[in-house]
Amino acid sequence: MFVLELTPECPQSQRETILHEVGLLSEDTTPTDPQRLRWIITADLTPTQLKDLSGTQGIARIEETTISYPLVSRQYHEENSTFSLGEWQVGSADIGVIAGPCAVESREQIIESAFAVKEAGGIALRGGAYKPRTSPHSFQGHGIQGLQWLAEAREKTGLPIVTEVMDTETLPWIVEYADVLQVGTRNMQNFSLLRALGRVRLPVLLKRAMHCTLNEFVSAAEYILQGGNEQVMLCERGIRTFTRVSRNTFDANLLPILKDTTHLPVVADPSHAVGDSKYVDAIARCAIAAGADGLLVEMHPRPEEALSDGAQSLRPEQLASMIRQVRRIALAVDRDVVTGKPQTSPFHGQSVPNREEHI
Ligand code: PEP
Ligand code: MN
Repeated sequence: MFVLELTPECPQSQRETILHEVGLLSEDTTPTDPQRLRWIITADLTPTQLKDLSGTQGIARIEETTISYPLVSRQYHEENSTFSLGEWQVGSADIGVIAGPCAVESREQIIESAFAVKEAGGIALRGGAYKPRTSPHSFQGHGIQGLQWLAEAREKTGLPIVTEVMDTETLPWIVEYADVLQVGTRNMQNFSLLRALGRVRLPVLLKRAMHCTLNEFVSAAEYILQGGNEQVMLCERGIRTFTRVSRNTFDANLLPILKDTTHLPVVADPSHAVGDSKYVDAIARCAIAAGADGLLVEMHPRPEEALSDGAQSLRPEQLASMIRQVRRIALAVDRDVVTGKPQTSPFHGQSVPNREEHI
């Protein structure tokens, strides 16, 4: 693999000649880093070719790289990469909180959740329409129906929606509805899914597999960037350790290491990490102190009724309190929490009327 950087003065005709010489086809000529006219080239070049190219006019540098994830590495992309999600610039100094239930359970539940998230200061709504469950007998999600309810919740609150994609089969339907595609811990190394997500033009929230190393995690993101999708945020959600006292172990170490290793935004999911709503705010504060750019948190209007992950789901008022606490930590590390315009539910704590009544 090679890194090629052209000088800003390199004339267009010379640029084409060079790109042709290094084996880039005309459709691949967009630089990996346009500001620096930099390309990462995966083709092999012989030592002679490399030597000849080094002296070519218009080439600022051409060198072999040993790094196996050059596209996500900060080595070849010094600035943080950012992209917008509703009112949040992901990867900027602003911290955003994505919150909502583990699963979309009903139209009423997701709309009620969306208003609660908005009122608490969340910036996006999460909720799985397709659920990866340990047991095939557990609730598997409402599928397309769930996506439609999510879209209705977005329409009512303006919150962008984050939802999980489990396979390439359902991806075409999910892209019709989602604003961010979540890849779950069990799918982080589903390489055909990652390649398909590289072809999609929607942000991806890539969760760390519960057993994987830093190299495996960032290499999974590399698959998505390789396809041309640069809107990826990495999510630490806890790893499996010998602990018996929490669902997983939150790997706070990884946050500053990821920020150093890659230019991608990094978010943290304290809910799946600790697995108990009592401790979610503490881990959320820890994540922000350690450098996370955002949070993904489970919240349910009535956690005791949740069809999945109720034990770790915050109540709406707990989410609001968590966001207030996180904001104080954010200010201490020269950042802030971006919150959308607060909006109180028009249903004032009553249940959401069903569609027919509401129309
Ligand atoms: C989820 O976010 O509800 C989920 C299934 O997460 P994970 O893939 O991290 O277990
Ligand atoms: Mn969950």
